[in-house]
Amino acid sequence: MKYYDKLIFELSRPGRSAYSLPEAGEFKPSGSVWRETPLDLPEVSEPDVVRHYTNLSQMNFGVDTGFYPLGSCTMKYNPKINEEVVSLFNGIHPLQPLSSTQGVQAVYDFMDKALAEITGMKHFTFLPCAGAHGELTGLMLIREYHRSRGEEARTKIIVPDSAHGTNPASAAVCGLDVVVVKSRPDGLVDVEDLKPLLGPDIAGIMLTNPNTLGLFERDIKQIASLVHECGGLLYYDGANMNPLLGVVRPGDMGFDVMHLNLHKTFSTPHGGGGPGSGPVGVGERLVPFLDKVHVSGFHGNFGVILRACAYILSLGRENIKLAGRLSTLAANYIKESLKDCYKLPIESVCKHEFVFDGLLEPNGATTLDVAKRLLDYGFHAPTIYFPLLFHQALMIEPTETESLQTLDAFIEVMRTIAREAAEDPEILKGVPHNAPIGRPDETLAARQPVLKYSRQ
Ligand SMILES: *Cc1c(COP(=O)(O)O)cnc(C)c1O
Repeated sequence: MKYYDKLIFELSRPGRSAYSLPEAGEFKPSGSVWRETPLDLPEVSEPDVVRHYTNLSQMNFGVDTGFYPLGSCTMKYNPKINEEVVSLFNGIHPLQPLSSTQGVQAVYDFMDKALAEITGMKHFTFLPCAGAHGELTGLMLIREYHRSRGEEARTKIIVPDSAHGTNPASAAVCGLDVVVVKSRPDGLVDVEDLKPLLGPDIAGIMLTNPNTLGLFERDIKQIASLVHECGGLLYYDGANMNPLLGVVRPGDMGFDVMHLNLHKTFSTPHGGGGPGSGPVGVGERLVPFLDKVHVSGFHGNFGVILRACAYILSLGRENIKLAGRLSTLAANYIKESLKDCYKLPIESVCKHEFVFDGLLEPNGATTLDVAKRLLDYGFHAPTIYFPLLFHQALMIEPTETESLQTLDAFIEVMRTIAREAAEDPEILKGVPHNAPIGRPDETLAARQPVLKYSRQ
């Protein structure tokens, strides 16, 4: 353990401080504002504080420290110009009078138009603060629409078995019953399985396209007209819109409502439940309901929206199209380069991501072993054991922001790991060797996190 990996309380020495304020003197506040007993804080110097937090920040793997091919999460590099633009808006407050926030209004207005052009929707609300929050908002809009037509009986929503877990969860929170439509062996929605589900109790369908296997739903037009014919609406989960940027638009495919994840497709930083933005776009039919659904106070996460605005403006129309195409190229390049040592369950051109079903010759090594070994070699692991359609899923999404050299280095390491599994699988059992933490109990860590220091 390095000296500064110690907990900051262990560095504490009585009387040491990082900064001293002058005596309060005559300006000493009176009454309950003034603390008589000092807070139980570590007593450390400024260098101790800086080193402690800098070291902490590097115990975690981030996209600024290495390649992060976490499928379904679009961990693309976040250009630093975005941060600079955000710093220009420091100090604004949501309760400021409109006359003093015209620049902010202009950003929302620009983003409404830009996202409408990118997606083919009419208007967006920027209130939702995450993808799942956007889903809930969109489903509430669908419900309002049906209610306004006296169709209260439409209480069921169709969700494919390959959907992101948030889809059925949001539907349940919205009070809708989930009906599952199966995928065919080629990974696409089974239209024959869909047909008998459609009826007067259907509120709509939630689709992710490209779906969680990274495949484009080829029957999307037919699905759209079938659902519309039965009186339902189409929800588009656009969290992973990246590969479609400037290529096709959900609005043109027949979708009525959708969300985008600005904290994926539009480059703004995310992870660990940090701030996000899941703006919801609607087509003609739902525009009148946009003001009727209130899902958060104020105006959503403006900082995230502003970063996305900087990203869109700095790329411009042509380069945004390139981003989508390059993300598709990078994913197919890795897929084709590794399919002789990892099991590719569905042989097809993918979009921005694809799924392997573990090693071709596992020899006892699991997907978890592969993921942990990657950390030893300096790469973040792909998403593992999702989607649930396969037992050893490894979901890889390289994004467009990586060079050919980085992709090649990743491919080489993935091949090395396959070779290790074939020749000496024992190597993989205790990995990672080089990470600060090995194999935590992730369920326990999520359910009962220990977030504060306690003295023994
Ligand atoms: C990430 C993701 C979501 C959820 O987004 P959050 O911001 O994490 O709530 C929903 N659907 C898909 C397909 C996603 O990839």
